[in-house]
Amino acid sequence: MNPSLPMADAGPALNPGDTPDTAAPSVVIDDLSLAYGGQAVLRQLRWRLQPGQVVGLLGRNGAGKTTLLEALLGLRDAQAGEVRLFGQPATQLDDAARARIGYVPQASDLFGELRADELLAYFRSFYPRWNAAKVEALLGRWAVPRDVEIGLLSGGQQQRLSIIRALAHEPDLLVLDEPVASLDPLARRDFLRELVEQVLDRGTTVVFSTHILSDLERVAFNVAFLQQGRIGVQAPLDELLDDTAFVAGAEAQLAQLAGVEVLAKLPGRWLLRRPVPAALPPGLVLQRPSLEDLFEALT
Ligand code: ADP
Repeated sequence: MNPSLPMADAGPALNPGDTPDTAAPSVVIDDLSLAYGGQAVLRQLRWRLQPGQVVGLLGRNGAGKTTLLEALLGLRDAQAGEVRLFGQPATQLDDAARARIGYVPQASDLFGELRADELLAYFRSFYPRWNAAKVEALLGRWAVPRDVEIGLLSGGQQQRLSIIRALAHEPDLLVLDEPVASLDPLARRDFLRELVEQVLDRGTTVVFSTHILSDLERVAFNVAFLQQGRIGVQAPLDELLDDTAFVAGAEAQLAQLAGVEVLAKLPGRWLLRRPVPAALPPGLVLQRPSLEDLFEALT
């Protein structure tokens, strides 16, 4: 890991949240700084989420993913910076903007003594838009019993119910904090894919945090890496794999690389943005990165 990566100012393909899309971003974050008791977690963070983007937010445990998502939703006070959702300050959203957001927190915030059908009827009363047919279909498909106290459901069932609740009012921005944490490893990616399919046709902006790489494959079209309090790199996953390369060898040889953009320096190998020089200094070899490699280098 190299703390001084030129990432936030990197070229067009890897800029945080930038896409060719010219629509107004759903989420605009500028210079966001947040510390707990003097311990900085987010540092002048800049981020953009465009309508219809599906973004996997990757970071190691404790990197600040939950903090970032909560600050994005206006649920945490930052020391500095600005968060705007649909053009409004996140801490002062009007009711109409609030109704456009769906949020699935990491810890279940469901009322344990209610049954699923009671809970959903309760939430329905808050939203002008509510897709009852979708709720019914998902309760069935995801095997969430309607008539059992929520506190008696399994962790996975509670998580699915929380997601159904967040999808029911057809949000334009869906924020999910480790949405599949309670599912077994095999079910995780398939479930996430289905979840994303539920909102793709509406052009919903989706951001979900994870520290599990396999969650991303074939689910997140974009990945954003949270490292040292900033979104370092954000890019379409395919593009990131295609546009980067490792060059491995002795440090003295690596130091001879000229005119390349170094995204990260790991011991004995540097992550470069392509193109790599046609003639590498002797002793250096080119390696194609895997998603695991990128995670190691960029988080
Ligand atoms: P992640 O979601 O990436 O695991 P978090 O946002 O939960 O990271 O936490 C980031 C850092 O901030 C961690 O070091 C965590 O211990 C700390 N932290 C989180 N919430 C609080 C809080 N309410 N008070 C103090 N420290 C906190």
